[in-house]
Amino acid sequence: MYEGAVQGLIDELGRLPGVGPKSAQRIAFHILAADPEDVRRLAAALIEVKEKVRFCTVCGNVAEDEQCQICRDPRRDPSIVCVVEESKDVVAIERTREFRGRYHVLGGAISPIEGIGPDELRIKELMTRLADGSITELIIATDPNLEGEATATYLARLVKPMGLNVTRLASGLPVGGDLEYADEVTLGRAFEGRRLLDV
Ligand SMILES: [Zn+2]
Repeated sequence: MYEGAVQGLIDELGRLPGVGPKSAQRIAFHILAADPEDVRRLAAALIEVKEKVRFCTVCGNVAEDEQCQICRDPRRDPSIVCVVEESKDVVAIERTREFRGRYHVLGGAISPIEGIGPDELRIKELMTRLADGSITELIIATDPNLEGEATATYLARLVKPMGLNVTRLASGLPVGGDLEYADEVTLGRAFEGRRLLDV
């Protein structure tokens, strides 16, 4: 336990995902020893991200406008939509350069243990997007783990009556892992080899 501000910083850092008490302490002392200008830049970046960044009204991706860059890009194919859990998955897929359609960011995956059901995800918004029939293929690129698979199956069943092609990324992705940790080549191949999801 440290005095005042140092402990305050350690406590705040410790609330971040993946930062345990030891890391929080290490980061706090790194900041304490750092150049004041560097610390000011970090603080400004934290405030700026909260002030400027919001979520795209169409797909739920992070955006600095009402719509994100991908939704605003007229060269992107609007008939194919790739469903992902988080914005970081959009970044991972964009890196492969395999996909020229649009995205839909769910904001997580179905997880009964964590109390996350379909209503907590942007599924209603997805159904609204699909309603006019202009989207003909839905690629479900949720993580290759239990929650991601459950979400994929749920979505496939839900949209089945709409008669569009629902595909899932091919195997080859590390099972139980996170999409964002897959290397570009593996993820690119999984995209190419996507298969129809039959439920
Ligand atoms: Zn968007």
